[in-house]
Amino acid sequence: GRPFVGFASLPHQIHRKSVKKGFEFTLMVVGESGLGKSTLISSLFLTDLYSGRTLPSASEMIQRTVGISKKTVDIEEKGVRLKLTLVDTPGFGDALDCSESYYPILNYINQQFEQYRIDEVGMHRTQIKDQRVHCCLYFISPYGHGLKPIDVTFMKELQGKVNIVPVIAKADCLTQAELQRKKETIRREIEHYQIKIFQFSDCDSDDDIEWTKQAHDMKNSIPFAVVGSNMVVRIHMRNVRVRAYPWGMVEVENPAHSDLIHLRTMLVRTHMQDLKEKTDEQLYEQYRISRMDTRRP
Ligand code: GDP
Ligand code: MG
Repeated sequence: GRPFVGFASLPHQIHRKSVKKGFEFTLMVVGESGLGKSTLISSLFLTDLYSGRTLPSASEMIQRTVGISKKTVDIEEKGVRLKLTLVDTPGFGDALDCSESYYPILNYINQQFEQYRIDEVGMHRTQIKDQRVHCCLYFISPYGHGLKPIDVTFMKELQGKVNIVPVIAKADCLTQAELQRKKETIRREIEHYQIKIFQFSDCDSDDDIEWTKQAHDMKNSIPFAVVGSNMVVRIHMRNVRVRAYPWGMVEVENPAHSDLIHLRTMLVRTHMQDLKEKTDEQLYEQYRISRMDTRRP
């Protein structure tokens, strides 16, 4: 069956009315092609698609992604409904000149803003579907020395439009020491290039020590090191998603092997509401205002 995702704890973040209605949350993946974006999407949330089988058949193997594609899954936990939309993008790097490959992605994000804007001024304001992109996982190659120029360009183009959460792809290719060094390098570069990534809010009170510690851990995990896999094996009566190598297995959800659990916790348990609010109050608001300006003579 499906793994326990944990969003049922969301009522702490929001008021009861929206619990009844259910949540809508859209996550997008962006980055160079071949970094495991499509694989991670299924590793993060679609676990049950492959459970019970040890090897995916050829047709189930992830295909090269050609257009922007979206998949919506309805998940229900403890009476809380979540409509999760996963937006997969083709990734750049296949074309000789990648400098403009962010256009279709920006375009997609803007289209969702525009649709929301139209619905908002329309007749049925209470039934608006929120298809806006609330979070964008930006995949950074584990092979480079840090950010590539195109990563900088891309993130700077996206930063005013969507909450960017950077991740180091295929973290199983790095040793612990390499990973720590890479994280520090990337954090420094993000600061140096003034790239605005999603900021984890600090807890506003000191009464919740657990939360403060969690937020602190999250900040220090940025960019999250992720490992994805489409292979599920049964270990000690549990279905475990792994990458099998000649020398052994990497468990994608094992905190010693990757930050996948941190990432999922952050997305659905601790920061979903934050991501949604920031999208609505800052990013969408900016878009809305810019649309008003264009109609002035
Ligand atoms: P995308 O182009 O970014 O969507 O990448 P895909 O998800 O299609 O994956 C490209 C290749 O990388 C496939 O052969 C995957 O099996 C492999 N892959 C995906 N995730 C990982 C990972 O975390 N570690 C390693 N080593 N390989 C991965
Ligand atoms: Mg893909």
